[in-house]
Amino acid sequence: MPTKKPAAAKKQPAKKVVSAKKKASAKDDSGLPLSVVIRRRIEAQKARFHANDNIAAFIQPGELEGLVDEVAEKMQAVLESLVIDTENDHNTKNTSRRVAKMYVQEVFNGRYVDQPTLTKFPNVSRLNELMIIGPITVRSACSHHLCPIMGRIWIGVLPSKESALIGLSKYSRLTEWVMCRPQIQEEAVVELADMLERKIKPIGVAVVMDADHFCMQWRGVKDRDSKMINSVMRGAFLKDSNLRREFLALIDRK
Ligand SMILES: [Zn+2]
Repeated sequence: MPTKKPAAAKKQPAKKVVSAKKKASAKDDSGLPLSVVIRRRIEAQKARFHANDNIAAFIQPGELEGLVDEVAEKMQAVLESLVIDTENDHNTKNTSRRVAKMYVQEVFNGRYVDQPTLTKFPNVSRLNELMIIGPITVRSACSHHLCPIMGRIWIGVLPSKESALIGLSKYSRLTEWVMCRPQIQEEAVVELADMLERKIKPIGVAVVMDADHFCMQWRGVKDRDSKMINSVMRGAFLKDSNLRREFLALIDRK
């Protein structure tokens, strides 16, 4: 893959740029799929658009509705390829649109909307004691099969005197924003920990995620009781084993 990509890009960069420019301005409304328009904006900025990336910066107001239409159309084609009679089967008549809305507006919405705004409070009482937030309910989907991942997250924060604290509910909002994308659990917890470090600038941050992966239950090995547990320890949580032990003892994973 990595060897192929640059070669393909080399072949036609001049052509690509020209046609992208022409079409993005001229053909937005006339036939060019919206996903292609958005994709070209992303590529022009050389940004990444993996399943767990947020691409809100490249989407203009009103375009999400257009994306729902496009996904519904393609979802309909999937149902047809599955040889399902959506015309006569009343249960599947509007399934394509329901699934498209569910993807774009709910379960993958964290890809398409801006990060929730965070009110930050200065650490006036100079708290430097362990704070634990959780369990926060997690609903996500695996990038491999788009099967649900249902679980819980605990966040530990050891603020410094200079830390900007965020409201308790914001931890849930941030978690939801990261998780409402097709994810890989190992990457999701790291992304969440990175974001908390950037926002709060604490002495330490810890994230523990405990989840059921439906791709293990619904398909594949059909192992109903298997769970995946990930933890990320940063700063003080990494260096101080007492702090780490205290955090792990206080979260109740039963
Ligand atoms: Zn999976």
